This record gives sequence, C-alpha cells and structure tokens, in this order.
Amino acid sequence: MQLEKKTMKFLIQSYAILVSPSLGQPLNDTNNDLSVTFDDGSSGGDDSSRTMSGSINKNQTIRPLVPLRNELHDFMIANFHVTAMCDDCQNALIGIVRQGFVCQRCKLICHPDCMEKISTSCRPSIKDRNRPSLLDQHIVRIPKAGGIKKGWSKYQLLNLQTKLLFYELSSDKDQKITWPQPAFIIDLTDDEFTVSSVTSSDAYHANKKDVSSIFKISVLKVSSPKQFQHTLILTNNESEKNQYVNMLSDLSSKVKTLKQTGSTRGANFIAKELFDTSKCSSLKETTAAVILDQDRIIACGEDGLYLLDISKDTSTKLSDKRVHQLSVISNGELLITLAGKQRTIRLQSLKSLIEHPLSSLDNKIIETKNSTTFAIHSISLILCVAIKNRILVYQLFSTPKPYHYSFIREFNIIQNVTYLEILTININQTEQQILWYGYPSTFVAQRLDQQCPSVSLLRDEDPTLQFFRDKPIEALRVVPVTNSSSINELLLVFRELGIYVSCSTGMRTRHRELMWTALPISTAFSDPYLLIYTEKSVDIYDVPSATWLQSLPLSRTRSLTSDGCICLSHDSELLNHHSKLLYLIQKTNLNPLLNVPERASSKSLATRGGRFRVGSSVVGTIKSTTSSSIAPISGPKDFTHISHLGKGEGLQIISGLKQVSPTSTLSSINHSNSGSTLNTNNRRSLISGPQNFVHLTHIGPSDISTFASDLSTTNTTTNKAVISAPMNFRHQVHIGHNDEIDQLNNTNNSRKGVIYEQQTNSVPLKQQQQQQQVTSSGNSTLSSQSLSFKDEDDSDQPLE
Ligand SMILES: [Zn+2]
Ligand SMILES: [Zn+2]
Repeated sequence: MQLEKKTMKFLIQSYAILVSPSLGQPLNDTNNDLSVTFDDGSSGGDDSSRTMSGSINKNQTIRPLVPLRNELHDFMIANFHVTAMCDDCQNALIGIVRQGFVCQRCKLICHPDCMEKISTSCRPSIKDRNRPSLLDQHIVRIPKAGGIKKGWSKYQLLNLQTKLLFYELSSDKDQKITWPQPAFIIDLTDDEFTVSSVTSSDAYHANKKDVSSIFKISVLKVSSPKQFQHTLILTNNESEKNQYVNMLSDLSSKVKTLKQTGSTRGANFIAKELFDTSKCSSLKETTAAVILDQDRIIACGEDGLYLLDISKDTSTKLSDKRVHQLSVISNGELLITLAGKQRTIRLQSLKSLIEHPLSSLDNKIIETKNSTTFAIHSISLILCVAIKNRILVYQLFSTPKPYHYSFIREFNIIQNVTYLEILTININQTEQQILWYGYPSTFVAQRLDQQCPSVSLLRDEDPTLQFFRDKPIEALRVVPVTNSSSINELLLVFRELGIYVSCSTGMRTRHRELMWTALPISTAFSDPYLLIYTEKSVDIYDVPSATWLQSLPLSRTRSLTSDGCICLSHDSELLNHHSKLLYLIQKTNLNPLLNVPERASSKSLATRGGRFRVGSSVVGTIKSTTSSSIAPISGPKDFTHISHLGKGEGLQIISGLKQVSPTSTLSSINHSNSGSTLNTNNRRSLISGPQNFVHLTHIGPSDISTFASDLSTTNTTTNKAVISAPMNFRHQVHIGHNDEIDQLNNTNNSRKGVIYEQQTNSVPLKQQQQQQQVTSSGNSTLSSQSLSFKDEDDSDQPLE
C-alpha cells in the first residue's frame, strides 16, 4: 500500500460540460455551482439545507434523473431470483438486485442499458403461448469436486459479453437453479485463455463414449508460480462440443486481436504468490496488511503482528496483540493499530518495534475502547476513530517521540458507522480534508477543517432510489470518478450495487448501476479500477466507464489493503491447498510496489473438480472433426482488423447454440446447409487459402447470410469457371467458422421467435405460487411490490 495513497485529489468544481446523457456516461450536472442544498446527514431529517462550502441556500432545487422510458412497453425495474437473459442482446442479466426491466404487459425482459433502444412491439398475447423455459437451454456438465470419478454436475452456461457464467443446477430432477449468481466465471479476455477438445488421457475417468463430447477451457489462475485453471465441460454430443470449441476460440481470438491493437480499454490484472501461510499458520486469517518497502510487508495475524520479508520468504513476529486494522505513516515511522481484546487505538514507533520485536512501548488512546474502524490522513496526521455511532477526531504529532496526540472534536452519527475514510478534496482552489463515512443506505461527507455540517450523498428527492429506504443496504466505500473531463462524480459502492452521484449535489449522475456477480466479501480501489472480491471471483470494474472488465478465477479471496494489491486467498484449488497471500498487479505495471520473486511452477496442475492430467492434450489448437468446419476460406495467418467486435456481436455465440437442440446431430447441421447448392467440396475449390491479406470489412450476422444466399443462387460450375484459385489478392470480407453460417441461416426464422416465446412464457401473470419470483420496485409507484408468477405448465417448470 502506498503510504500516500489517501491523498487522492479530486476537484469539486463547477462544470457545465454537456456530456451525452447516454447510459454509462455522466449526465450534465444541472447545477453549475456549489450553492446547492444538502441534507444534514447527522441530524437525520433536519430540514436545514446547507452547501458543501458552508453557505445556506434553501431555494435552489435539485432535479433528479429523468427515469428511463420506452414508448412501446411498460417497463419496470425488477429483482430477479432466477437466471434471466435479455430479450434484446441475448446476454445474461447479472447482479444482486435491480438486474433488469420487465414489461408489465408482455413480460419482455431486458438490461437497463438495452431498454431504451428496444423497438419490438408490445404483444401481451404472446405470453400465453407454450414455449421452452430458459432452464432447458445451454446445459453443460462439469466434474464434481473430487473429479470425474465422482460424477458430473449440471450447469447452465450463459454469457455476458466476454464472460462465461456457469449457474449450478440442483441435481434432482427439476434442475432448479440453486442460486441465481454464477457458480463460477470464465473470462475470455484472459491472455492465456485456451479452449480445446480433449483426448481420453485428459478426461481420464470419463466414460469412453463421453470423451468426444468433452472440451476443456484453460485460464490463468496465478501467474507466479504459473498455475492454470482447467475446466472440463461435457456437452450433449460431439457436434455441440465442436460448436462450443469453434465459437469460443473464434471469440477469444477476436478479443485478443482487440487487446493487441489497443482498441479496448482493459484491465489486465494478474496474481502472484507473495507468501504461503502454511509457513506461518497464524497468518491464515490475516485481516490487513501494509507494504513497508519493496521487499517487506506487515500483516496482522490471528495472534499478533508479523513482518514478512518477501524476497527471503521469512516472517518475524513483532507483537503479541491481535491486530484488527493497521496503518503506517510518516515514512514508515509511525504504526497505528486497532488492537487487542478491547479494540483500542495504539500508536507506536515502527522502527523501534522492528529493532525490538515484542516490546510493548505503545501509546494507547484509552478512550477509543471498542472502536470499529479508523481512518488516518497521512499528510495532515488527522486520525478519525469510529466507535459505534460516534466519530472521534485527533491530531497526531510526529515529534517529539513517543507520539503525541490531541483530541479535536467528536461527531455523533444517527447510526453505527461501518465505513470511514479521509480524502483530500480541492474546493475553490483550496485543499480540504473531507471525512467520508457510511452507515446503512447512506454515505456522508464531513469537512474536518471547520465547523460545518455534514453532507448526505444520497438524496431523498430521487424517486429511483426508493429501494434504499425500503431495505437498508450496507455502505462499503466511496470511490472518486477520475476522468479527463470532470472530476465531480463519485461512485457509491453498496453491498448490492454501485451508484454514481454528483459530488456537489448528491444526486445521481447516471442511470447505469454497477452490478456485482455475487455479494462482495471485500472491495478495493486502485484508480481507476474498482475490485470486488466475491466467494467465486475477483471482478474488476472500470469506474469512469462503468464497465466490468475482468474476472480473475480466484475464489474465497479478500483484500487486505484498500487498493487491493495484497489479498488473502483461501481458493481450494491453489497449489498445495494452502491459503496464500497474493499480490494483484496490472501485468503492464513497470513500477511495482513490491519485488515479488518469480516462483517456479510446480508440476501438479489444478483442475476444477480434481487433479488434471496434462498428458497429450493439445492445448491451444482448435480442431473440429465435423466436415462443416472446413471453411470456404481457410484461416488467415496475418491480417489487420479494420472493424471491431461490437457489443453483442460474436457474443451471441451462446444463444447461437440454441439452433441446435440437445439431440441434434451432425446430420441436422448439414441439413441446414442443404439450402445452399454448394457442398463442402465446392466451397473448398472456390477460393484457395490466402496467407497474407488485409481486412476491409468484418461480417456481421446479417451480412453473412446474404453472402451465403448469394453463393447459393449461383451455379456451382459457373463459380468454378469464373473464379480460379487466386494466390494474391485483397479480401473484402472474411468469413469466420463455417458453423456461423449454419446458425445465421437459422437466425431469422427461429432464433428471435424461440427466445421471445420462452420469455413470455417464463413470466406468466398469475400471482399465486413462487414459480418465478420477480420483485418489482417501480419508479412510478415509489413502492416495492413482490410479485410471484405461476407458470401454466407445472410439470415443465422446475422452479420452486
Ligand atoms: Zn441487453
Ligand atoms: Zn411489452
């Protein structure tokens, strides 16, 4: 942790930059000066209105965001308790609450981002039709814990842009989703992502006849020592497996191309092993750590404080007291801890503690007994301590030693404080220390330098935030949104979602809410990235653009520092099954805070559900055995992309699989080709494989079917005569895997229809049993209502 890390500066300034009011972008702040009204957060309902700069202005009104609308449908925001897919983009809905919109008439489901652009008409009658449940689709099997010997578990595989989400289905007959959060996530943007078919030596204990239906996905788990996560996936049949392999490898290569050309904004975090806690068992439950210098960190163990030397791989016990939180300031001189059974704040010279371990020359601040958390500003040496619903503020002095402190003031808060942080903010060209604290459903900004009321960051006027008052949501962290245009926005990180607000007005600035893949167990901020640690993964979000960029396959991991660079992982698939201290760092970071020695890879490789045999698997080569995989144009080796993968493009891969029913076979796939007069051999002879060319366009879904139909109208022999095998030419178009044609041929006549039916059926309007629970908290009603829908056909509805 950088000692100066809390010196985050962000200007509160008037800004009238008209940003496009599209989703994901900050809206124009209608108030261009700071003379705006605020609630007094500490008085809880006191109607005195004040500004951040201290003046009082009761007259100015603050306009909330205008709720999103779609003229064609009657959409309401909903909480989904089952997996759901967007009817517009076919991607999964993720999140804990408010994952998507449901039309109150036709039951169309969509992402908040997709809602405004939906142009299909509202057809309430369609909901009565019988259509397959989403649960019947995209079912794959993954080995149980302990390996293939123990059998396979059923999962539903959905995708969200470049992430594959696996939702576990219960093993009983009705296959209900056990929890509508993914059981694990695979990120296709991983640099080392590979997908391949397997041989019988890869799937050692698998049934012989299953081997041809199994494929394997590998992603990097830890980069030093290098450790992959291999996931074996059993599909319904060989042709389905080949489709998955082709589609995923195709998509992965597109993503890689985008990364190489630098056209995507990307996080590229990797994990390195810092310390194996088996060497010091009391570090298994480490709660916090700080970086001292490039080789050493201090970590709190269960029974005391430890100095870890990363380069020498040694640990030294510094103190016997249980430490809950720690901070080091003044160039490593002053150690502040929240420690002991009485949870008091202690000040200590770190230098003398390192020289004389286990000495107890600390300076206890007695009145801080039972404190919950503290925050320190490393420049001004202001210390804030939260004790239930009180905040005590102290000034520390670095000289003379031992460290002195003086009490400044006390704040009384209406609820127990759960989050505390001091940030430096520039207001009217003067830097001011602002204390941020949080309690359920609320964040408050409190100036420290003068008698000044606090400012609540969630405004009561906003009707779209009603749900915060219906149910308290834990306040986790305030994150400044730093980008080039304006620095007047904050991201408020709550347990169940993230919300963007204006720093000066406290009103929402964007409709987009950040959705987590599961409840966070800890959070961290490394500008501009927000790190959300869940039971299943470490998810990385780009704060300015409000996008989920990366998912690291590290389960049961939590952050030990506020920037997330040191974390403790209990991931059971880590080498030797020991919990590890890990170092998270951007792959491209040239100035790491820690010198982490590269560790040699062990021979054993973990795989999901047990040990994995490397054997003769052909990792990285994608071979399909179906004849339909012989493409009309062979794979280019060297080319430049001009156009890029758009949202949803290529990512409809999973939904593309819908064309092939679980029982479909190779012959049915070939059948879809029979509309074309070209057979595989003809295609092959049409154009020989180019080795060197430039891309001009990239085929979209509609283009490809046009192209295919153009070919079909032309007589094969004519084609042959007209076009001889060229050896040197420029491509106008490039065709992907042949499978794409098959699916796309079907797209127009089946895909839309199938999805539409399935969703209308999945939410029939009978509010009786809990077949499918959709809780709507509507903008218009300002109330939360819980709707339970019953399906017409009980036997087909696996939901409870
Ligand atoms: Zn969508
Ligand atoms: Zn509708």
